[in-house]
Amino acid sequence: MTKKRAKRRPKAEKHRARCGIGYDLHRLEPGRKLTIGGIEIPSDKGSVGHSDGDVLAHAVCDALLGAAGLGDIGTHFPDSDPKWKGANSLIFLDHIRAMFEEEDFRIRHIDAIVILERPKLGPHFPTMREAIAKALGMEVDSINLKAKTNEGVDAIGRGEAVAAYAVATIAG
Ligand code: MG
Repeated sequence: MTKKRAKRRPKAEKHRARCGIGYDLHRLEPGRKLTIGGIEIPSDKGSVGHSDGDVLAHAVCDALLGAAGLGDIGTHFPDSDPKWKGANSLIFLDHIRAMFEEEDFRIRHIDAIVILERPKLGPHFPTMREAIAKALGMEVDSINLKAKTNEGVDAIGRGEAVAAYAVATIAG
């Protein structure tokens, strides 16, 4: 595969560390699936979204695209495109993996926080980390996940929404 960006960059610029931030929020409603980090979590409420509404996958997408200077998730996977309706968001991560390969970017580390009142996410983190690592072609050890509640405050605290923040460090 052609390494487009690598070719047009001076050698000294290659492999410097770059950092990106991502954030996402989805409303929660009864009778919908709750998918976080590519994993379906048993819950009485699930995310409302054009795709599967996976806040963690979406925040990670934006963190990676931001670090690479490649825009945002809405530009690459617009919610107006019927192709992404009900899509498993791990597909977005897989697209970004291919884009990074093309542009010669390497993912070094991902750190993320998911804010959800309930259920507890900690027990699902090992499976989520494996799913994200597989989609991105990176080591599980380079993905760190954290869970918070919103202490009953605001929409997230009332169980009406789920949010996620992510930071990605890449080299390229
Ligand atoms: Mg989203």
